[in-house]
Amino acid sequence: MALHALAYCERLFYLEEVEEIRVADASVYAGRRLHEELVADEGELVSLVLESETLSIRGKVDCLRRRNGQLIPYEHKRGRSAKSDAGPQAWPSDRLQVCAYTLLLEEHTGISIEEARIRYHATNTTVRVPVDEKAREDVRKAVVRARELSQSVERPPVATNDRLCLRCSLAPVCLPEEERLAKDENWEPVRLFPQDRERQTIHVTTHGARIGKSGETLTITDTAGQKQVFPIREVGEIVIHGYAQISTQAIHLCASQEVGVHWFTGGGRYVSGLVAGASPVQRRIRQFEALRDPGLLFRLARRLVFARVSSQLGFLLRASRGKDRKVLGVDDALQGLRNALRAASCAEGIDSLRGHEGDAGRHYFSGLPGLLRNDLDERLRFNGRNRRPPQDRINALLSFGYALLYRDVLQAIMAVGLEPAFGFFHRPRSAAHPLVLDLMEVFRVPLWDMPLVASVNRLQWDVEEDFIQTGKQVWLSDSGRKKAIEVYERRKEDHWKHPVTGYSLSYARLIELEARLLEKEWAGEPGLFARMRLR
Ligand code: SF4
Repeated sequence: MALHALAYCERLFYLEEVEEIRVADASVYAGRRLHEELVADEGELVSLVLESETLSIRGKVDCLRRRNGQLIPYEHKRGRSAKSDAGPQAWPSDRLQVCAYTLLLEEHTGISIEEARIRYHATNTTVRVPVDEKAREDVRKAVVRARELSQSVERPPVATNDRLCLRCSLAPVCLPEEERLAKDENWEPVRLFPQDRERQTIHVTTHGARIGKSGETLTITDTAGQKQVFPIREVGEIVIHGYAQISTQAIHLCASQEVGVHWFTGGGRYVSGLVAGASPVQRRIRQFEALRDPGLLFRLARRLVFARVSSQLGFLLRASRGKDRKVLGVDDALQGLRNALRAASCAEGIDSLRGHEGDAGRHYFSGLPGLLRNDLDERLRFNGRNRRPPQDRINALLSFGYALLYRDVLQAIMAVGLEPAFGFFHRPRSAAHPLVLDLMEVFRVPLWDMPLVASVNRLQWDVEEDFIQTGKQVWLSDSGRKKAIEVYERRKEDHWKHPVTGYSLSYARLIELEARLLEKEWAGEPGLFARMRLR
C-alpha cells in the first residue's frame, strides 16, 4: 500500500507513512467493504501476508490462483481501470503494488512469476500485468525512494497533476489547492476541505451522569436512568462539564477512534483533555525549528494582531451601521481601533505589537456596551472586561464562551499534530497553552462575541435562572451553561466565506483549516494563515 501511495504521489506516501496521517474517507471504507464482501461472497481471498528482508517490504496479497500451471497474484480494486487505445489498463500505482506482491511471492515460493492481474470492480474488468525486468526494477527503485523519503523531515511538494488530488483521501490534510493558491494568487482553488464536520460534539452537563461503552457505541446515562446512545463514528468529542463519570472502556474507545475527551469544571473553566491523533514527531520538529526564527515569529504575530483587531473593528462597524455612533458611544472605540491597526503596521517588535493589541482590546470592550440594547435589565449591563473570576453576567458569558473556544482550538491544534505549548505571540504565563491562545485570537469575535451580543439583544438570558452570584463573582447556572453551549454550537455550524480561498466553510471546520494553514507557514507554502477578516 505504501508503494501504491508513493507511485500515486510522493507527498501522499510521506503523509501516510512518515507522518502517519491516515484519513478513512468514504472511498477507503468502500474499499474495505469490497474486500469483506469478496471474502463473504466468493470465499476466494487468501489475504496472504508476506515479508522480505532482502527487499525490505511486507505486503498482503489479496488472492493467489493457478492458471495453466502458473501462479498468479490477484489484486482487487473497487474503482475503474485506466483506458487506452489497446483497451483497459492498470493504473501505474496499482501496477507497482501488484508487481511488489509478485516479487514477494517469488522470494517465498522460489517460483518465477510472469504475470499478475488486477480486478477492477467498477468496470468489471480484469487487467493483466506482465512482470518483466523493467517492472521488477521499478519496484526496487520505488523501495529505495521510499527509504530516502522516510529519512527526510521535509514534506515533498504537492502533486503537479492536480486531478490526482480530487480523488485523494488526504486532500483535507494536505490542502494542495491552498498551497497552489499561496504560490499563484490567480489560482482558483477547488474546495477539497469538507465544508461541514461529520462528527458531533457531545456536551455532558449533568452531574452524576455516566458515560460508558457498549460495542462500538458510547452510552450516556443520567441520574434518572435515561440512556442515550451514540455510535462512535458519529462522535467528534465528548465534553464533560462538572462531575459526570466516564469509564475506562469508554476512554479507551474514544482514544482508539480519535475522539477527544475534555473536562471543564462546573464553573466553566477548562481543566484538561485527551486528544489522540497521528504521530506528530515530524510536524513538531518543524514547529520547534520554525519558532526559533524571530523573523517568522514577528510576521505571524503581526498577521494575528491584524486579524484580531480587524475583526473587532469590523464587528463594531457592522453592529452600529445606520445608527448614531456618538450616541451609542462606539465612536471613540472605533477611532482607537483604527489607531491600533495603524500602529501595529509600523511596529518593529513583538512587544510593541502586544502593546497595540492590548490597546485595541481596551477600545473594543469600551465600545461593546454600545451594541447592547438600552432597555436591558441593569444586571446585564457591561462595563468592561474582567475575569478570573468574572464579576458580572456578561463577563461570565464571555469567559465561558472563550473556554469553549479554547477547547475547540486545542482539539484542532492536537489533530494537526502541533505542540500547543509553543506559541508565537502569547507568553506562557498561565496554564493555558500559548499556541491555543494565539489561534483563538482569530475566532473570538466571530465565534463568540457576535452570537453572544445577538443573544443578549434577543433577551435570551434569564438574569435570575441562568446565573449564580456568590459575593462579587458571577457564574453560569446549569440552565445558563446549556444555553451558552447551544448558542456556541449553533454558531459553529454557521457558514462563512473565506476571503482568500473564496470558498465557504462552517466555523467548526474553519478552526481546523486555520490550524492547518498555520502549520503551512513553516511546512509548505506560507501566506494564508490568519487572513480571515470580518467585513
Ligand atoms: S492531495 Fe494531492 S498533493 Fe496532497 S497527497 Fe493527495 S495527491 Fe498528493
